[in-house]
Amino acid sequence: MSTTPLHGFAAAGFRRMWHDLETLGLNGRSGGYSRFAWTREDSDLRAWFAAECAERGLDLTTDRMGNQWAWWGDPDAAVALGAPGVVIGSHLDSVPDGGAFDGPLGVAGALAAVDQLRGAGFTPSRPVGVVNFVDEEGSRFGVACAGSRVITGALGADRARALTDRDGVTMAEAMGRAGRDPSTLGRDDETLARIGTFVELHVEQGRRLVDLGSSVGVGSDIWPHGRWRVDVPGEANHAGTTALDEREDALLGLAAMIIAARRAAVEQDCVATVGKVSVVPGGVNAIASRASGWLDARGADADAVLRVVDEVRDVVSDFDGLVTQESWTPTTDFDPALVRRMAILLGGLPVIPTGAGHDAGILANDGIRAAMLFVRNPTGVSHSPDEWASADDCLDGIAALADVVTDLAGDGA
Ligand SMILES: [Zn+2]
Repeated sequence: MSTTPLHGFAAAGFRRMWHDLETLGLNGRSGGYSRFAWTREDSDLRAWFAAECAERGLDLTTDRMGNQWAWWGDPDAAVALGAPGVVIGSHLDSVPDGGAFDGPLGVAGALAAVDQLRGAGFTPSRPVGVVNFVDEEGSRFGVACAGSRVITGALGADRARALTDRDGVTMAEAMGRAGRDPSTLGRDDETLARIGTFVELHVEQGRRLVDLGSSVGVGSDIWPHGRWRVDVPGEANHAGTTALDEREDALLGLAAMIIAARRAAVEQDCVATVGKVSVVPGGVNAIASRASGWLDARGADADAVLRVVDEVRDVVSDFDGLVTQESWTPTTDFDPALVRRMAILLGGLPVIPTGAGHDAGILANDGIRAAMLFVRNPTGVSHSPDEWASADDCLDGIAALADVVTDLAGDGA
């Protein structure tokens, strides 16, 4: 990789931000993070982001969903001139007990990239934005990339407001408690028009860059992926006094579904995961009256992924269960010309696909020119406290991001 060397203070700024973020939403025992949308932790992270933006004199706005956008330059004047901005950033929320890097690397990295550009005396010819997307992981309400899906209309406002968390709190209620007005939810054309290009810096969720021996890579595409909710009915009864042949055990249907998903995924060369289940009433000595599970399925071939879901649906119907699609994202190709341009600019970086969904993909599917930069993750593990990237590799990623912005928002753009 070849990049402009990172200024010492940009690197120091990144280290300081990383240190500040270290304690927010930290699970003491595991070393992982739980940072869910519209919670106290989320509010602390949003306040942190706002403070960092204020320190840099960036103009902070929130869109109809509550995603935070900080601008260096006037985004609307640029839209009027037909030269909308270059946006960088990512998300600050996490999966339950997630790693430190997935999301925050892209947000703190974007702020550090701004420091780098300013240190170099760079004057953007079009505005530069830094975004913090809300609810990227969908950990609380079940729909991933809810922040970008709502503003692009991929997730309808009524459906979003009615999504519930495990305590039955709707997204609308959660937003209200966090001081936001849920009635504003919806497609946000004004915000979208300001994004000429979006580049998301992110930790790699796999080991391709380790194998390729590169600290940074450019993303080419995202596998098609979706989430389905599976509900199986049953009848609550006593675990001791109900004969086996008189039972309607909802959990048996869910167990069959989980095995079927695994088998079908092997057959179809996809991946399928049931990582979250809920059982009612949930007593050791009570037969389950309802069992629900969330199926996540992905693969290189969209039809193959949908065949996995069909097989699951067949099995679940034997138990009178229902499969409901909660989200579906087709194959997402990042802008091929932009991908090529970035790879060449950075000295011939490897170009790699990913099986993970991202806000960059949602924006790309809405027709926005988007791409990603990945930072090497030696463990290959993500969505776990073991997710990791070295400080040097993170700084390489920031240097690469700053060079990309120089290219895209500079005089030659
Ligand atoms: Zn992420």
